[in-house]
Amino acid sequence: MPTLDEFELIDRFFRRPPTDPAVEVGIGDDAAVLRVDAPLVVAVDTLVGGVHFPPDLVPDAVGHRALAVNLSDFAAMGAVPRWATLALTLPDADAGWVESFCEGFFALADRFGVSLVGGDTTRGPLAVTVELMGATLPAGALLRSGGAVGDDVYVTGTLGDAAAGLAALAGGASSGAAARLIERFARPEPRLDLGLALTAVASAAIDVSDGLVADLGHVCRASGCGARIDLEGLPLSSELLDQCTLDRAREYALGGGDDYELCFTAAAGMGEQVLDLARDCETPVARIGSLTSGSGVVCALDGRPVPIAVSGFRHF
Ligand code: ADP
Ligand code: MG
Repeated sequence: MPTLDEFELIDRFFRRPPTDPAVEVGIGDDAAVLRVDAPLVVAVDTLVGGVHFPPDLVPDAVGHRALAVNLSDFAAMGAVPRWATLALTLPDADAGWVESFCEGFFALADRFGVSLVGGDTTRGPLAVTVELMGATLPAGALLRSGGAVGDDVYVTGTLGDAAAGLAALAGGASSGAAARLIERFARPEPRLDLGLALTAVASAAIDVSDGLVADLGHVCRASGCGARIDLEGLPLSSELLDQCTLDRAREYALGGGDDYELCFTAAAGMGEQVLDLARDCETPVARIGSLTSGSGVVCALDGRPVPIAVSGFRHF
């Protein structure tokens, strides 16, 4: 496919007929104009080629992921996504790459009712920044700070798959199990339905982007308490257990990033309601431990403390 100039790229791939009446001015002017009638929720995430994903990752996965990581932040806030902006920095104006990127991006945007309302297109090392805007539900946003000592700690889905998938991608593994783990890294599923439902029952929530111990640690600091993870309760996929030992799988689950599952807390008496909502949302949920007095995250196996040596991903 030929290379196109900046404005041809925007017109051909990003500009789409508006569907949301709240978008008074969309792509094409100097800025977008949105009609906002509720508290505005805003999140932004940058994915840098070679830092957050291998630069040769298939472009539709890059497009999916760039929006999915923001949708996951909205899930963790229990907020409704509506509008996005996209800042795309490309080494060259490769129309085939952009077309495939847009397939991944807009498939997810359409599923969750998100309109692309603006952006910026520049030349440079591959980087994608998506900003997502939307609204809270009447119950308000779900914060990291609402946890209390004695609350149960839950996670959605299975943990550690994306980190193992990234390792499999780097190592060139090609079994069916490895391919499914790579898919977990490439196309994370934002847990938006459950996040919205949880505003009624959860006390605190975060999405697992940097690793469970690191992210649950943020909930603990914000809520002024500690947490205990019962290792036997960690949800591990059969694909992960197919690729490594149980100990290694637990290390991936505790320290590996990129899963974009939700970790949330709810008062101990809410267990049944939590599991009902999980069933309604067709989202697997597992109870993995409790919030405790004190500070920091500890792990236990059969009730006995076990040392952990994971720190989570940090850029600096
Ligand atoms: P300006 O020079 O005023 O910043 P641009 O030439 O960067 O305007 O962009 C022209 C229009 O195209 C703007 O409405 C902008 O929001 C939109 N746009 C540019 N790049 C993108 C993109 N990657 N995705 C969506 N909209 C974009
Ligand atoms: Mg611009």
